[in-house]
Amino acid sequence: MAHPEIVKYVAEHDVLTADLSQVKVFDGTIQSGIYLSSFQKKGDALFCTCRDDAAKTKYAAMIAASADACPQFPGSPEQEGELFIATSGLTHELALFLRKEFPFTIPVSLKGKDATIGTGDRLGLANPAHIRAVRDYDIFPVLAQQSIRELNFTKRTYQEVVDAATFAAFQEGYEDGFGFDGDHLKTLDEINMALDCEATMITLDLSEVMNAKAANWSDEQLLEGYQSLSADEKLRLESTYLGETFTMQDGTTLSFDETELHRCSVMYLEAIAFAKEVYDLLVSRRGEGNFDFEMSIDETEAPTVPQHHLFIIKELIHNGVVVESLAPRFIGEFQKAIDYIGDLDEFEKQFNVHCQIAKTYGNYKVSVHSGSDKFSAYPAIGKWTEGRLHVKTAGTSWLEAVRVIALKEPELYREIHQLAFDSVDEALKFYHITADFSKIAALDSVSDADLPEYLNRPESRQLIHIIYGFVMQDDSLRQRFYDALFVHEELHYQLLRDHIRKHVTLLGRPKKA
Ligand SMILES: [Zn+2]
Repeated sequence: MAHPEIVKYVAEHDVLTADLSQVKVFDGTIQSGIYLSSFQKKGDALFCTCRDDAAKTKYAAMIAASADACPQFPGSPEQEGELFIATSGLTHELALFLRKEFPFTIPVSLKGKDATIGTGDRLGLANPAHIRAVRDYDIFPVLAQQSIRELNFTKRTYQEVVDAATFAAFQEGYEDGFGFDGDHLKTLDEINMALDCEATMITLDLSEVMNAKAANWSDEQLLEGYQSLSADEKLRLESTYLGETFTMQDGTTLSFDETELHRCSVMYLEAIAFAKEVYDLLVSRRGEGNFDFEMSIDETEAPTVPQHHLFIIKELIHNGVVVESLAPRFIGEFQKAIDYIGDLDEFEKQFNVHCQIAKTYGNYKVSVHSGSDKFSAYPAIGKWTEGRLHVKTAGTSWLEAVRVIALKEPELYREIHQLAFDSVDEALKFYHITADFSKIAALDSVSDADLPEYLNRPESRQLIHIIYGFVMQDDSLRQRFYDALFVHEELHYQLLRDHIRKHVTLLGRPKKA
């Protein structure tokens, strides 16, 4: 099938011979089905992303004056007037082609980037909006970021996640780079799977290997657990921690008494041994320094108090493990998709100590997980990290997608809302939230015009947040959801761009110089 409209546009605007900086438009303008931000040239060929409104799909096009201008492009050229055009769906083969020919579509390391933000894209549709949110700001995006839980819920693979990021960077003409985080990985198999797909960052989740229960153990229980360590190990721990005062860069001091040393040892040493095993795997597969390693202990009941953070990093250093970032479990509640719950002053005090530990012991980043919508905590986070931080969001992008549905497709929204109530018991097995769902207004009492309000209220936000997997696993619902977001793409991008940008600006990130 030839594409006369596209070829006509290219011919009329002399795009093949033009200086692309004069032809490209970055504000989401689409002409003759072409995303004007996407134009790229290589040799004698022109490339761009296009949309087919009738079929509700996107594809890439290669246009040239001769049929053999780019034989590697996955699509056969057909003549259209003076020009030749080949097209390809957004397939893995196309992603491989783009990454080979246009290296800015390859994920890269976060090393040397101080402020970084993970913007997971569970649907594979949100990354272009993430790019629009951050491209003018001094913050580096991790566009490809998904946990195993999210992969399972959305029936996606790491290959699809990174390919979606590649297509987004290409479509938006975004050449400043992005990362790829295999998020919340718990086993060597999962880590190998992410590495196979060229993840640049590995987030090791230690919440299941650590002994969180020991946070509440009695002195006797702790001593009993501690006694099972070898004599040499106990000697080492005691001479390292007991009777010592650890002074941070700003003068903050931390110390350990026997009980706290026993507690830290019982809670974390096994997890740290596993972290060492994982680190050795990363070094053996990638080579020292050729990956970004984050350790997360955020998804646990036990808050990581500053002493525990200090113990963990000192033990990691002792084992030769280098982390780029570490995600503690902060005090208070970082529940999904709503603002911080808890005492903000106390949060800020402890958060500062976490930052001081990170600055003193290797200047790694404090990583803030479940960062979506923690707006009241963001100014403190921006301030005490002094802009050297990692923040992760994902669920909030899903909610903005649902907002589009609530605004534009009320019938579909109502189906999703009902499904949310039907699946909530199952969903709660996977997410820790404490919302009182009985506060949510009954669906039949709400007019179509008021449906978007559900996306503003904390209880319904959290309900909708945790059931994305149930929408994605219902084939009919999933298809209608994707079709609607295709049709209302520009609205989706605008809502999401503004929402993510609110995160960026509240963190105090300045515009790029
Ligand atoms: Zn997390």
